[in-house]
Amino acid sequence: MNSAATQPLVLPFDVMRVRQDFPILAREVHRQPLAYLDNGASAQRPLAVIAAVDDYERHHHANIHRGVHTLSQEATALYESARDRVMRHINARSRNEVLFVRGTTEAINLVAQSYARPLLKAGDEILITHLEHHANIVPWQMVCEQTGAKLVVAPMDVHGEVHAEAVEALMGPRTRLLACAHVSNALGTVLPVRRLLASARARGIVSLVDGAQAIPHMDVDMQSLACDFYVFSGHKVYAPTGIGVLYGREALLERMPPWQGGGDMILTVSFERTTYNALPYKFEAGTPNISGAIGLGAALAYLGTIDLAAAHAHEHALLLHATKVLSQIEGLRIVGTAREKASLVSFAVDAVHAHDLGTILDQDGIAIRTGHHCAMPVMDFFKLPATARASFVFYNTYEEIDRLGASVRRARAMFR
Ligand code: PMP
Repeated sequence: MNSAATQPLVLPFDVMRVRQDFPILAREVHRQPLAYLDNGASAQRPLAVIAAVDDYERHHHANIHRGVHTLSQEATALYESARDRVMRHINARSRNEVLFVRGTTEAINLVAQSYARPLLKAGDEILITHLEHHANIVPWQMVCEQTGAKLVVAPMDVHGEVHAEAVEALMGPRTRLLACAHVSNALGTVLPVRRLLASARARGIVSLVDGAQAIPHMDVDMQSLACDFYVFSGHKVYAPTGIGVLYGREALLERMPPWQGGGDMILTVSFERTTYNALPYKFEAGTPNISGAIGLGAALAYLGTIDLAAAHAHEHALLLHATKVLSQIEGLRIVGTAREKASLVSFAVDAVHAHDLGTILDQDGIAIRTGHHCAMPVMDFFKLPATARASFVFYNTYEEIDRLGASVRRARAMFR
């Protein structure tokens, strides 16, 4: 029998069709077609998200959870159905485990202050890795200052890889918490989180995974990962800014005191005593970002309409193409050469400061990130003040990467 006949037909990912869902991609910058390669910083919004937010603002806005009137009930239903959508997307066990926050940064600060601070004693340890974003360093330093706990940093190697053995070697009797990135924003490294989480669990160490850079590029399943906390930002996964998610294991969230006090997070208030609301509301004090949450729900619903496996495969192909194109440029060094990477390439070019490079590329209509990427310890490790970073999602094309290569060559020629 002809084996081709038995193979399922695999259609290539239709990037040109998908691009039409993102109106901003059609614009020009400096009279050049925009090549948006700064998705690691923030991804663009599809029409479905713009329309969902617009519909809410035009037809349904009111404050939630309080009103008996129709608009308030409609707004509440939209906000809460966005929570259900998040729950399904990350396969959480319950909607009580999905808290809306401002983003990754706020989620980590919440865990640091509400989970870690009451628990930590002087001499306890929080274990992170060398490649963390500042958002997964500074909140822990703050809680260490508040409690006398110690921050322990697991090393990475010259490729930007974090080895599970090296992290495990630092898990000791005083380790109370492991907080690590799923994917590094500065280097693209995918960390061995599944193994790290298992090792932490076996030692009774609570874990937090910073999923800001992972959630756009891979399936993230809370029940199979089995971490205690997982955090991400909406704006990196095609939703508006100012909304993000803290996933927390329900039993832990139940035991944690609220972080902020105010409206919505209470059941009863008197001057003598206040009782707190149930999960998830206990952690959502005040009027939340209602339209942002609705936008996040719409973004995840949009992802449900595309072939995500094909989209992720396309992103991986873009990574390979960019690595090839950039490696052929003389004087260019790729920073972060881990075996497993998400679709992001950091690089430095001899004699061209990353900021100059970014400015020249902008003239060619190409948006990349330049700087320390909120990961100064990573820059120190590689003895660089800054890198240039091109980060791709499924709406990017090979042609955009070829333009990136040509523009970098042009910049290099200018500085020689
Ligand atoms: N962690 C990682 C790995 C990130 O890439 C980012 C965003 N650059 C953050 C945390 C912080 O996210 P936000 O600014 O949306 O809170």
